[in-house]
Amino acid sequence: MTVTIRCADFNNDCPAEFTTPQEDELLQHVELHTKAVHQPMEWTPELAEVVKTHVKQA
Ligand SMILES: [Zn+2]
Repeated sequence: MTVTIRCADFNNDCPAEFTTPQEDELLQHVELHTKAVHQPMEWTPELAEVVKTHVKQA
């Protein structure tokens, strides 16, 4: 089983999509991606919770 998330589910035209075996790992990818690509958006615990609601299991 894997979990997947698409950046386009949130805000923008961003084509990024992540798939990992574990949700924790997925969130780490999204965190790095957010900090690298979507400045000045800040990564917060609240944002992490929102991200979790968009995670899909595959
Ligand atoms: Zn993105």
